[in-house]
Amino acid sequence: MKWVNHKLIAGATGYALTGNIAFTAASILFSTVPDSIEFHNYKTGTSVFKHRGNSHNPLVWLIAFAVLYIGFRFILPYSVIQIDAIISTLYPNLVQYVPSMLVYSFFGMVYGVFIHLITDAMTMGGIPVGKRHHFALRWFYTGSSQEYLTSFSIVAVSIFISIVI
Ligand SMILES: [Zn+2]
Repeated sequence: MKWVNHKLIAGATGYALTGNIAFTAASILFSTVPDSIEFHNYKTGTSVFKHRGNSHNPLVWLIAFAVLYIGFRFILPYSVIQIDAIISTLYPNLVQYVPSMLVYSFFGMVYGVFIHLITDAMTMGGIPVGKRHHFALRWFYTGSSQEYLTSFSIVAVSIFISIVI
């Protein structure tokens, strides 16, 4: 799937689900990470990591986020206290929002990556699952008009939900 569609779907559905700016921003930012960490070189057509290999494996991301979560949960609080101290001297009114913003950003990050995997799974190419399995819904080819139609429909429904609810 094209990056613009990954970003649109992650941002629109993320906002419709949470109504939170930090969550939405993080999900848009991280919605292209499974592709960007492959370090693809467009001139030579090669990449450091195989395209849609482990970078697109939901099990690999589950483990990565579990490790990150443990890091945030048990190691970061000490640095958050320091960040809190800096922010409270600069912007005393903002400091009460910092912990929830960090939590929303973390889950926005997780959401952005998994939206990427889910939307790539809709394409003909699909994604790997674990070591031996492959999952492809085969709804459309990457970059096809069906892909844009799907993306715009999801965005339209999300905007509707954001406005109505
Ligand atoms: Zn991808």
